[in-house]
Amino acid sequence: MTLAPWLQPAYGQAVNAFLAGRLGHAQLLQGPERLGKLDLAQALAARLLCQRGDAALPACGACTGCRRLAQGSHGDFRQIGIELNEKTGKLKTAIGVDQIRDMSEWLTLTAQLGGPRVVLIETAHRLNPQAANALLKTLEEPMPGRYLILVTDQPKALPATIRSRCQRLEIGLPARNEALAWLATQGIRGEHAAQLLALAGGNPGLAADWGEAGLALYQSVRDDLAACVKNQAGVSETVRRWLDDADAERRLLFAAQVAYGLGRTWALAAAPSPKTPLAMGRLQEWIDGLNRLRLSLSQPLRHDLSLAGLLVEWRQLLQDSR
Ligand SMILES: [Zn+2]
Repeated sequence: MTLAPWLQPAYGQAVNAFLAGRLGHAQLLQGPERLGKLDLAQALAARLLCQRGDAALPACGACTGCRRLAQGSHGDFRQIGIELNEKTGKLKTAIGVDQIRDMSEWLTLTAQLGGPRVVLIETAHRLNPQAANALLKTLEEPMPGRYLILVTDQPKALPATIRSRCQRLEIGLPARNEALAWLATQGIRGEHAAQLLALAGGNPGLAADWGEAGLALYQSVRDDLAACVKNQAGVSETVRRWLDDADAERRLLFAAQVAYGLGRTWALAAAPSPKTPLAMGRLQEWIDGLNRLRLSLSQPLRHDLSLAGLLVEWRQLLQDSR
């Protein structure tokens, strides 16, 4: 697997530390979502388990260690994450303490291939409190040749005691031209690539995930908001359409971006209206309200009433600002 270019510096840093015998017992791989952190963690695990350890960068892909890892049968590698609840068939909501205790015990056993043992914990911020405590005990008693790689896009949701016992590998958003060059390799080019990247706040992984459908969704949100101002669409009909499918969260995110765009236009206007300062304050409050609603979508609340209120306020705000 080829790592995205923005992952390569962190990969090189970790491998060099490993070759120099300076790689810590635990790595915390953190950064924004969808940037390929799990790919990086797996590539690093593969490199640690590759038996041709003295060679330069990537895992060789040919030794016994590499072949077993590729077949999913390497006895010295474990990947831990949210498991399926076998009774309900749904994903559990957290990484449980049994998973961590089991892993800690396994770490103390002799390595099958005589090399290191490596554990990868994905979505590490989803450890439940007991699991986090159990992990802390393991982190406090490092063993030679045992490596943990924790992956998260919400490091602040991890206890500080865990964070402080890890070496940090930070993945940041790439520069715009690097992101655009990578999007081109994913088949997204030109104006669409620039628009998607801006919508995704500079995150190329998110932009690639959204793709053309993301642009179309953004356009429809912008049209809905414009229709709302002109009283062309019923508020309740728009509310239903916005909230009734899996795209609800993204629609609210895009609606906030439409509002940011409007704020920018007002701020850059050659001849600002005397009404602008007041309208800007209301616009910011509107965006805050929308963000609160977006973050509360997973909770069992009356989201439809909140959104209807926001759409009515949007209409009023734009009519008043004229
Ligand atoms: Zn190998």
